[in-house]
Amino acid sequence: MHTPVLQESLEELVERCTQAVETPGFAEAEAWKREVPGRALAGCFPVYSPVELFHAAGMLPVGLAGGGNRMEIAHADSRFQSFVCSIVKSTLEQGMTGVLSSFDALIFHSICDPARNLASVYARNFPDQKVEYIHFPQNLGAPEATGYLAREYERVVVSMSELTGRAVSFDDVRASISIYNQVRSVIRDLYAIRSDTPHLLKTRELYPLVRYGHLVPPERHLEVLLRARAMILAREGRPKDRIRALLAGSFCEQPPLDLIAAIEDAGCYLVDDDFLQGRRWFTRDVDAEADDPYYALADAYANRSVPCAVKHDIRTSKADALVERARAHRADAVIVLCAKFCEPALFEYPLYRKALQAAALPHIALEFEEKMWVFDRIKTEIETFVESLLFS
Ligand code: SF4
Repeated sequence: MHTPVLQESLEELVERCTQAVETPGFAEAEAWKREVPGRALAGCFPVYSPVELFHAAGMLPVGLAGGGNRMEIAHADSRFQSFVCSIVKSTLEQGMTGVLSSFDALIFHSICDPARNLASVYARNFPDQKVEYIHFPQNLGAPEATGYLAREYERVVVSMSELTGRAVSFDDVRASISIYNQVRSVIRDLYAIRSDTPHLLKTRELYPLVRYGHLVPPERHLEVLLRARAMILAREGRPKDRIRALLAGSFCEQPPLDLIAAIEDAGCYLVDDDFLQGRRWFTRDVDAEADDPYYALADAYANRSVPCAVKHDIRTSKADALVERARAHRADAVIVLCAKFCEPALFEYPLYRKALQAAALPHIALEFEEKMWVFDRIKTEIETFVESLLFS
């Protein structure tokens, strides 16, 4: 049973979410599964996963976000080369140490070569768990892309139905789209509040509130987000002398929460970011009344989703989109914070740099690993960067 949230203060709510996010394992999701026989868990690797499909199949889609900085990699190193991002290794390590044993299915997506290899390595090492690999269209401008993706989604739902023994109707998918629309809408509100009044909502608070949705049903997440939004809107305070910074590049592997806090403490209001981008993938609601809800979800992916380094869309320039986003949020500067060895992010950076320089937007580029413990060097670099902007 979930603890009621309606009496909790904002600080208590944030602390609850922070504890859930920072505690290794998936206790709340496993408790949800145990409550009713026949329930199942789907572990969804980043970046974007069509969680509605798993929810409609009676599963709880749980976001996989790596092992954090408390997991030692003792087994997964033997399956991957050394120059691979941390989240790929720590996800496999979670499997090899039993952390993912309660999951009935693991879902990977065509975002990059390491994620593709992880899906294959995982399937080979854990033949008793269902592993699904979703192929997103590689040419989103092609007229066939949306129809293809809709049928790919339908294939995945059939696969999940075989697992759960539950037939999935169009109405089931529509209902799941509707609840996730509500969650995404409140998250959009919270992001807008932070951009307008960053002194009233720190990113170190917003981040755990959003990431809590990785671990609990969307109905529960919505309850928490609505309660949080009401209390944030009642907050008062005055802005401090800080720069407004947009943080880009951390869309898949996630930096430690203490690193996010260190960046804020170095003198930044983060007014927009790429964290957990899959949870905020669509720029507006997906059509929850569509005749073919699979097509509606696919259409939203193809035509109304955020630019991301792992989404192949030659119709728009991601670098230009970054500059536009920085201007829309009145950012003084951009912090490009990429996971070490994340090829999609690092390939994008030279294009970002060129566009930001052309737009006269100051930026700083940094790398992180999920298992980082010490943030002094990054904090000092950002402090120096901030001072150069404040006192220039
Ligand atoms: S962090 Fe980058 S390289 Fe690693 S799985 Fe994610 S997108 Fe791929």
